[in-house]
Amino acid sequence: MASAPPAAARHLKVTGVVQGVGFRPFVHRLAGRLNLTGWVRNVAGTVEIHLEGSPPQLDAFERSLRGEAPPVARIDTVETTKAEANGASGFAIIESEDADTLRPVPPDIGTCAQCERELLDHADRRYRHPFITCTDCGPRYTIIDRLPYDRERTSMKTFATCPRCAKEYGDPNDRRFHAETVACPDCGPRVWFEGVNGEGRAEGDPAILLAATALHMGAVVGVRGLGGFHLAVDATNDAAIRQLRKRKNRDAKPFAMMVRTLDAARAVAHVSEHEAAALQSSARPIVLLTPRAGAHLAAALAPGLDRVGVMLAYTPLHHLLLKAADRPLVMTSGNLSEEPIAIGLDEGRTRLRPLVDAFLLHDREILSRCDDSVVRVAGAHDILLRRARGYAPVPLPLPVASVQPLVAVGPHLKNTFTLVRGNRAFVSPHIGDLEGLEALEHWRQAYDRYRDLFRVEPTVAVRDLHPGYLSTRLAEELGLARIIAVQHHHAHIAAVAAEHGVTTPVVGLAFDGTGYGDDGNVWGSEFLVCDLAGYRRVGQMRYVPLPGGDLAAREPWRVAVGYESLAGWHSEAFSLAYYGVPLSLRSGVQTQVARGVNAPLASSMGRLFDAAAAVLGVRRHASFEGQAAMELEALAGDQHATPLPFPVSEVDGRLQLDPVPLLTALGEGRRHGVDVSTLAARFHESVVEASVDVARLVAGSYGLDTVALGGGSFQNARLLTRIARRLAEGRLHVLVAQSLGPNDGAISYGQAAVAAWQLSRE
Ligand SMILES: [Zn+2]
Ligand SMILES: [Zn+2]
Ligand SMILES: [Zn+2]
Repeated sequence: MASAPPAAARHLKVTGVVQGVGFRPFVHRLAGRLNLTGWVRNVAGTVEIHLEGSPPQLDAFERSLRGEAPPVARIDTVETTKAEANGASGFAIIESEDADTLRPVPPDIGTCAQCERELLDHADRRYRHPFITCTDCGPRYTIIDRLPYDRERTSMKTFATCPRCAKEYGDPNDRRFHAETVACPDCGPRVWFEGVNGEGRAEGDPAILLAATALHMGAVVGVRGLGGFHLAVDATNDAAIRQLRKRKNRDAKPFAMMVRTLDAARAVAHVSEHEAAALQSSARPIVLLTPRAGAHLAAALAPGLDRVGVMLAYTPLHHLLLKAADRPLVMTSGNLSEEPIAIGLDEGRTRLRPLVDAFLLHDREILSRCDDSVVRVAGAHDILLRRARGYAPVPLPLPVASVQPLVAVGPHLKNTFTLVRGNRAFVSPHIGDLEGLEALEHWRQAYDRYRDLFRVEPTVAVRDLHPGYLSTRLAEELGLARIIAVQHHHAHIAAVAAEHGVTTPVVGLAFDGTGYGDDGNVWGSEFLVCDLAGYRRVGQMRYVPLPGGDLAAREPWRVAVGYESLAGWHSEAFSLAYYGVPLSLRSGVQTQVARGVNAPLASSMGRLFDAAAAVLGVRRHASFEGQAAMELEALAGDQHATPLPFPVSEVDGRLQLDPVPLLTALGEGRRHGVDVSTLAARFHESVVEASVDVARLVAGSYGLDTVALGGGSFQNARLLTRIARRLAEGRLHVLVAQSLGPNDGAISYGQAAVAAWQLSRE
């Protein structure tokens, strides 16, 4: 082909997630197939392609570029310009001198179908190799030390490629051409099994069989995975799961499980098309599914809830372990209750020793901690409940570029932080609750790693309004020239608006458990008129005293005491809330409320759900925040219901929802024998209708046509889909959380969006 002079030349600039996902090898193969010459190179987070050849072939290239791109690549834009043909011969991947500018780090990618086939093919040289990968799949973020992404700068650097792997790496026609993680049984990492004291060590295939045998016998096995350790247990063995709960100090919070195939997922749960797509996506998140009646699963997996978390095997090691175990396995984070997940070999051995009976380990270092992501499908929406493996660290755009690099340190609970340079926001994977030294240390490590990887040196810190949070201390500790404080619910709405590129004022419905208000009270059902510049609180739930403060989130009956005080005490309607609560304790708490001692005022939606669960006799004590709300949602299901009284009035120039008549009606209904699931559904519908009424009133009086929904309460699928639908019926444009999910995991991004706006206006 070099003999014929090229008819034309074009220059293509491709943006999106195009580095570290097999994009350049793909371009190389495509050019070869179409007889085009030229080169491809990475330049500062984009891919540049120079092509020479006949115009029809060049057109074909552009079509196929989008149509056939690697599964994990995401092409945002392709800019094509005419170029000078200089008679290039052949096609080359040019190493790029990478400017000191933003470069994306690809996320970890679940084992692809082709690697899975080879893994289980007797004839393949990687048959049963627990570290099989290719350009389309395998670890990325969790093993990358620095950029640019190549083997030398990953934890694969200690495994020198054998000649056969090296040949595949260098062969443009091989599907492992330029696969930085290429490895085989001759040169790749090792897997082994050992007892908690290092005894009984076995390597390779026998290790996997021993782990499976231990699981069959009811053991807890610590499995070193991709972004950290898992604790694995037989998901059909009730006693084993109860044992794990005891050791992990986790009463009732549901455990996720892993199965090998979609069929195996369908055997234990109902899987819609949409849910199947989520399960099989390259991020391989945990997806919350409705268990199949009669499925062979332990009752202790998710007690009292109508959903179980299921994920598909996402590494070859998982595939082998699940195949050997031949049953679903609980795979929960390798940590003690809320501590960060263990990643290091010795760290895992030491920290997890009290929790496990044996280990399944490997010697490929994990450089960045990354939990499993969690998704729930609600109608047409994917609700991201935890954004971590498979999603982070793909950056999100900000609608306004920040004129200074900044770090938004995020909220107190379900923490993530966000680094910003220009209009790119690098949201960290889920860090967890900022309580305890381990969590703070984890935060600092993740922050240093992110700064390093993305070469962002912040000069501004952004924090929550709360003066006492550890996150506030973290922000101050950084010693940056400037600190900007952003109110929690403003950040919730800003996050949703910003991810949709909306900078004009919207009506914001921010519903959650707790956020520090600018009046010093606990906010949580807020109607804001806001944009990135600021907010005005135009509606709220009536304040209720929360006896015991944070303790009330774990003891719904206390919230009921608070509401009963508004109802004028001695309301028979509240009596079910106190069943089993000692009278002396109850009257002590009543006195506490009456005197206003340690009883902060709250307008929290989460606490209203708790109070409703208490007066319905569903739950008086919770073992984790949100448990009562999840149970109420499960009870309500999707049955049709009519609302109960939930009046809205204007108080001090602000709309106020009064839940006292609603709670009274619930308690009375229950006492008169109305079915609890009917009442749970009517409760949901009441919140929906009152919220929609207020949103419409506000939109009307401020001349707004867009409503943004943010906050952890919108993890409730019924609440989210019903409010969104009713608002849309009223011709309002509805924005819901997509890239980050509605809960506090999105707060740091919202803080960043507000601060970037503020800085850009100065
Ligand atoms: Zn693959
Ligand atoms: Zn090899
Ligand atoms: Zn929140």
